[in-house]
Amino acid sequence: MAIRKLLIANRGEIAVRIIRAARELGIATVQVHSAADADMLAVKMADEAVHIGPPHAAKSYLNIEAILAAARQTGADAIHPGYGFLAENAGFADAVEAAGLIFVGPTGDQIRTMGDKAMARKAALKAGVPCVPGSDGRIDSPEEARAIARDIGFPLMIKAAAGGGGRGIRIASDPEEFEALMAQASAEAKAAFGDGGLYVEKVIERARHIEVQVLADGENAVHCYERECSLQRRRQKVWEEAPAPTLSPALREKLCASAVALARAVNYRGAGTIEYLYDDRTGEFYFIEMNTRIQVEHPVTEMITGIDLVREMIRIAGGARLSYSQSEIGLKGAAIEVRINAEDPAKNFLPGPGPITALTVPGGAGTRFDTMLYQGYTVPPFYDSLLGKLIVWDETREGAIARMARALGELDVGGLKTTRPLFALLAADPDVRAAKVHTRWLEPWLEENQQRLQEQEGTGS
Ligand code: ADP
Ligand code: ADP
Ligand code: MG
Repeated sequence: MAIRKLLIANRGEIAVRIIRAARELGIATVQVHSAADADMLAVKMADEAVHIGPPHAAKSYLNIEAILAAARQTGADAIHPGYGFLAENAGFADAVEAAGLIFVGPTGDQIRTMGDKAMARKAALKAGVPCVPGSDGRIDSPEEARAIARDIGFPLMIKAAAGGGGRGIRIASDPEEFEALMAQASAEAKAAFGDGGLYVEKVIERARHIEVQVLADGENAVHCYERECSLQRRRQKVWEEAPAPTLSPALREKLCASAVALARAVNYRGAGTIEYLYDDRTGEFYFIEMNTRIQVEHPVTEMITGIDLVREMIRIAGGARLSYSQSEIGLKGAAIEVRINAEDPAKNFLPGPGPITALTVPGGAGTRFDTMLYQGYTVPPFYDSLLGKLIVWDETREGAIARMARALGELDVGGLKTTRPLFALLAADPDVRAAKVHTRWLEPWLEENQQRLQEQEGTGS
């Protein structure tokens, strides 16, 4: 059944992104919003808007009943969850289908299996995908935990089965610390995710974060190559690129094939990302998790493949088969994305929402800015601080970095402190330029470069 009217159960730049894809497909759009978001760009762009509750996300963007009521009221026949919020909530996917609507994403059962990180590990092992050495599934008792710790050795990573967004992860370096952190981590995971379940993994030191984009229609699955997101702060990505600069063609083939095998093994439907850690000293890669939704950094893949991933996920949800066979998906050039947040990198990334007094957006060849901003908009304090994503493409990685530096120079967000100065420095950094980075590279760099970040402040937003 082709979709005629799509409700967007999200906010910010991703809501704008989804409306654009829907409009090009000739699909009408309904944007839901909280009381704090009546002025947001997606509300202005959508054909219809419905107020679903107070600013607090638990009462609006996470309020399943209010979202379903908005769909009924407007006659929407499908719901796109974006990322974050309800995007990986299996109960929401089930409720959408039970209401006779289309969920733009995988089935509830697929989210249940692959969205639970401990269960996803099992599915990956079963599909022959290498995993980080660790527990088989959730850890049920302290005795089991001790036995596994003895087996894999320290340092160990304690991870919440329901975790995400870099939260719910602890590193233990010895047995005493391990016992203490297990108790702490479980209580925190229970509070943050409503599920205290834990599993453990060996710590892969100096690894790169590499992830494979997959598209699947329930029968067939293809990959759209990989992204590298090794520049992270607190396990959250800040700079993403495609392709991974140090991956050999042979390893790329192997890595992407493993992602497709896993998607096929669960009859996956929709867009998904399979995340790995890659050790470039040994050439080994290890599955860490699957995100059963569109990801923040999807545009870099769109730039190197020419595929509109959001359009494709909407088409698949409407019942279409995959538009591409694997041999039709090529990789060209290099793309980089940076996350422009309303945070001050010179003050430990202190969030600073508020009014946008002026706005100059970068443009020109190979330059894309996916944003929620417009001049006169006031960024509300209640949500994630992502304002927009600056994405560039060029034939070579070197060219893309030069283009990023140039585009960052054009960006001016008046009135707010943003992460822009951080990226200007990173684009000039010799290690970044040589792609000599890993997931723990950025944090010490930030310590060492505090002074330079403060100096950059003087030069603009
Ligand atoms: P990962 O969780 O693997 O880092 P992404 O990089 O795609 O995946 O980040 C998604 C995260 O972005 C969510 O888990 C959440 O913390 C955050 N987020 C959720 N909703 C929004 C939103 N509307 N705008 C910006 N960020 C969001
Ligand atoms: P989330 O669901 O929060 O995105 P992930 O499992 O994807 O959690 O891990 C987030 C980040 O934490 C990774 O990108 C990586 O930097 C780090 N990480 C996760 N697992 C390990 C591990 N076993 N060893 C080393 N680093 C890890
Ligand atoms: Mg992750």
